Amino acid sequence: MSLIPVKTILASETTGHSITVKGWVRTKRESKNAIFIAINDGSTIHNLQAVAEPGQFSEETLRLVTTGACVAISGTLVESQGSGQKVEVKATDIHVYGPADPDQYPLQPKKHSMEFLREIAHLRPRTNTFSAVLRIRHALAFAVHKYFNDNGFFYLHTPIITASDAEGAGEMFRVTTLDLDKPPRTEEGTIDYKQDFFGRETNLTVSGQLEGELGALALSKIYTFGPTFRAENSNTTRHLAEFWMIEPEMAFYELEDNMNLAEDFVKSVIGYALEHCADDLKFLENRLIDEEKNKPQAERSPMPLLEKLGFVVNNDFERITYTQAIDILLQSKPHKEKKFQYPVGWGIDLQSEHERFLVEKHFKKPVILTNYPREIKSFYMKQDDPSDAAPGPTVRAMDVLFPGIGEIIGGSQREENYEKLLARVQEVGIDPANIWWFLETRQFGSAPHSGFGLGFERLVLFVTGMGNIRDVIPFPRTPKSAEF
Ligand code: ATP
Ligand code: MG
Ligand code: MG
Ligand code: MG
Repeated sequence: MSLIPVKTILASETTGHSITVKGWVRTKRESKNAIFIAINDGSTIHNLQAVAEPGQFSEETLRLVTTGACVAISGTLVESQGSGQKVEVKATDIHVYGPADPDQYPLQPKKHSMEFLREIAHLRPRTNTFSAVLRIRHALAFAVHKYFNDNGFFYLHTPIITASDAEGAGEMFRVTTLDLDKPPRTEEGTIDYKQDFFGRETNLTVSGQLEGELGALALSKIYTFGPTFRAENSNTTRHLAEFWMIEPEMAFYELEDNMNLAEDFVKSVIGYALEHCADDLKFLENRLIDEEKNKPQAERSPMPLLEKLGFVVNNDFERITYTQAIDILLQSKPHKEKKFQYPVGWGIDLQSEHERFLVEKHFKKPVILTNYPREIKSFYMKQDDPSDAAPGPTVRAMDVLFPGIGEIIGGSQREENYEKLLARVQEVGIDPANIWWFLETRQFGSAPHSGFGLGFERLVLFVTGMGNIRDVIPFPRTPKSAEF
């Protein structure tokens, strides 16, 4: 007999047949004539209720049926007498696979703080909130692959151990096979990391982009979707040391095509979640409303979760240049009242407070910012022709900014001109010999191309309405947590 998930059982059109349900007990409630056991198997946010007559089961078995225990319950599927569910199981057999001592099991049926649950990352998927987040995360990952597959992209697996630093930000985890107690030394006496794994300094990838570009200049449209690593000591609610990045790269796409793709892609995957995760999203929406009850009006979300997602899917994103954004910020109230922590001026790397002002206060919708100053962006971005529109040199960069999040996507049209790229590489101090393979793609059959990177956890954060990026990945890696 194949096991039927709770989700399917709850949707049953007929009753009267025998059934077995396996899962974890969420609650046990006893009345004089019946014991009500709520079982969840992770297939849905809803529990299946099993009803047991006390006299029919041994006291020992019933004693072991407690919150957290793993059980198999067989019986007849009947119409439920109670409200809240259509069907329930009238139990005839109860088997306890794994008891959970009520005096020790940490997940008793009460509200636990997110901080506490982070400490028990091994058990938190058994809570309603985390199981909902994990199911939505799954649906979004599936939607990502579906979108690209439907649109003619090939999934390219870029390396995790690499010698390149795409962003040049020096945020890499070093990968070494050297014996650091007795390391090889250079003539100057420093550790000779060149004797590393590939005879080169190697690290964990910060982005699959450079390798992705190679794929696009052969297969036309590719995407990567894999783990990336940044050794940044950012204890924010938006940064992880290990996160998953989605990076499409397209030959023959210019900046505008890139923006169109980014907007269509994000709307499509959010739309998929709205269609396929309605129950989980509704649960998270209610949770948020509940949580925000105690907050002052100004701090509450302007829209309930589902409405917010629908709004993003159904409205055009605002598109402005970086220079226009700086003008808006310079004229804004927080700037005039010196409320921004980081002062505004052309040339600054926008901080999340600036991004969020533009999105949440000014435009009240997602914004795509383009044509950033060259000096604050990576070497590979295509340089704009000089113009009077900006006070300094700019590149064809685009960042997509989302309410409550700030930057969700960073992308650009790439520099396809060999001489210009080489000059820029030298200017920023990269040894061309280290990326000869990247430069060679511009020497042979170069093509205009573009791409972007979307931090998957930031997308999950937005869709679930959770407040902290640590709570949308099963095992968060941050400077303070990497226990298991
Ligand atoms: P931020 O300005 O937020 O630090 P970034 O500009 O350094 O991000 P990019 O190098 O542009 O990030 O990477 C592309 C995308 O990857 C970002 O838009 C973001 O969605 C995501 N991302 C970057 N760093 C992190 C991180 N540490 N944790 C989670 N997601 C990240
Ligand atoms: Mg960063
Ligand atoms: Mg950024
Ligand atoms: Mg960026």
